[in-house]
Amino acid sequence: MTINQSGWKPEMTSGDQQGPTETFTGARALMRDEALIFEIGSTDTTGVDFGEVEAPASDRLGGLARNRDIGLPGLSEPETVRHYTRLSRQNYAIDTGIFPLGSCTMKHNPRLNERVARMPGFADIHPLQPVDTVQGALEVIHQLSNWLVTLTGMHSVAMSPKAGAHGELCGILAIRAALEARGDTREVILVPESAHGTNPATAAFAGYKVEGIPANGAGRVDLEALKQRLGPDVAAVMITNPNTCGLFEPDMKAISDAVHAAGGFVYCDGANFNAIVGRVRPGDLGVDAMHINLHKTFSTPHGGGGPGSGPVVFSQALTPYAPLPFVEKTADGFQLVEEETAEEHHARSFGRMVAFHGQMGMFTRALSYMLSHGADGLKQVAEDAVLNANYVLRSLSDVLQAPFGDSGPCMHEALFSDKGLAEGFSTLDIAKALIDEGYHPMTMYFPLVVHGAMLIEPTETESKAGLDQFIGAVRSVVERAKAGDETLKGAPWYAPRRRLDETQAARKPVLVWEDPNLVQAAE
Ligand SMILES: *Cc1c(COP(=O)(O)O)cnc(C)c1O
Repeated sequence: MTINQSGWKPEMTSGDQQGPTETFTGARALMRDEALIFEIGSTDTTGVDFGEVEAPASDRLGGLARNRDIGLPGLSEPETVRHYTRLSRQNYAIDTGIFPLGSCTMKHNPRLNERVARMPGFADIHPLQPVDTVQGALEVIHQLSNWLVTLTGMHSVAMSPKAGAHGELCGILAIRAALEARGDTREVILVPESAHGTNPATAAFAGYKVEGIPANGAGRVDLEALKQRLGPDVAAVMITNPNTCGLFEPDMKAISDAVHAAGGFVYCDGANFNAIVGRVRPGDLGVDAMHINLHKTFSTPHGGGGPGSGPVVFSQALTPYAPLPFVEKTADGFQLVEEETAEEHHARSFGRMVAFHGQMGMFTRALSYMLSHGADGLKQVAEDAVLNANYVLRSLSDVLQAPFGDSGPCMHEALFSDKGLAEGFSTLDIAKALIDEGYHPMTMYFPLVVHGAMLIEPTETESKAGLDQFIGAVRSVVERAKAGDETLKGAPWYAPRRRLDETQAARKPVLVWEDPNLVQAAE
């Protein structure tokens, strides 16, 4: 194995012999172009034996019965198993390689967490069970709440929101309830350019007018522009910190002081708390509400859209308006405070975010992660995440332009632009060529403030050797793009599918498979 600036390359044992360029099946060993189940299945095959039905469906269901065959494909049981197993082997996951998506934080999920989450006392309970039969689960929620409140230096926490964006809505609804309680009809929320896209979406969804605040040359909130815009119509400011350029907002305290002096509230998007956990307490920075993405900071990778969990921590001022339910420790054990049991001081709660208590499977994983790392270990998580991202930033900034490279270290993610690629080559070509190199691409074209943005987040668990190999791959691909290597435009060459039309699936979705023979028969 050789390690050099461009990473390590395994030595091939087969020598320089050339194999055939094509195979009979078109497969490349384990890589095969798996057909759709509609293409390989047939309507007269089935993998299950159903008994004969006594009466035709139309007799039993009246007008509700289907009047024509819908053409669902059938396969034998082993064919079905193979089809889905083969598809599953085309997945890229944190368990198969580095997941460099920025603003997304694919965390390693220690197997211990899975053991704990699957314990029957957590996995097999029902949210409507009597509370005296789920004391252990309630204790987990309570302990996790204490960790979150302590780590953030805030006053209270709502555990129920089911993702980061859901947490934002929760925070903004609490702010609205607090404003309404004092008869205040402010209707503007200020969202700096460096904020995550969900922030303006949340503000608009909650019925506010959204106004932007420019970023300064260093990729941070322009403090003076923000101060000038503050006034009696501003309900809140939503600040992402660390922001979507992967930078810490150093003026956070000054921003909070100015917003409070103008009678508004400070919402902080803390989705990327993994960069500062154990190092910074948002409560010390004057934050009134902040969501934490458990799935980005305390394990549970969330590829493919879930699962997520976005608890929201609140300042003292917003605590009375926080949603129900929450878990309270009493002399008789753990109790759920719900609408019926809410004492006077919770009576101002704005309502509920979910039917029950939140994402229990993630609470158990997050608490195991915290307990197994300890307070010092969590601090090291943040330090290693930042170290890894800066290693990527500095290792690539001679081949890629880092727009904020001069304004100090980054936090958990490194941001590059497409400046310097040969005419006609784009960020997309880099991303597709990385697939050929065996990597999931980085986040592309986000944040919008940087042209052709490439946002790379390595996370803290990647080793130096692993990072060197990834950096070597990016470097090699970028050098090809700078030299105008036309083969990049066809990438990926080795994936099961070649370059796809990026928008056709959204513009012309095929949601129903119509078997041409069946359609004809019905007509
Ligand atoms: C991921 C992220 C969100 C959204 O979180 P979801 O759990 O995907 O809803 C919001 N803000 C920032 C800064 C993020 O990184």
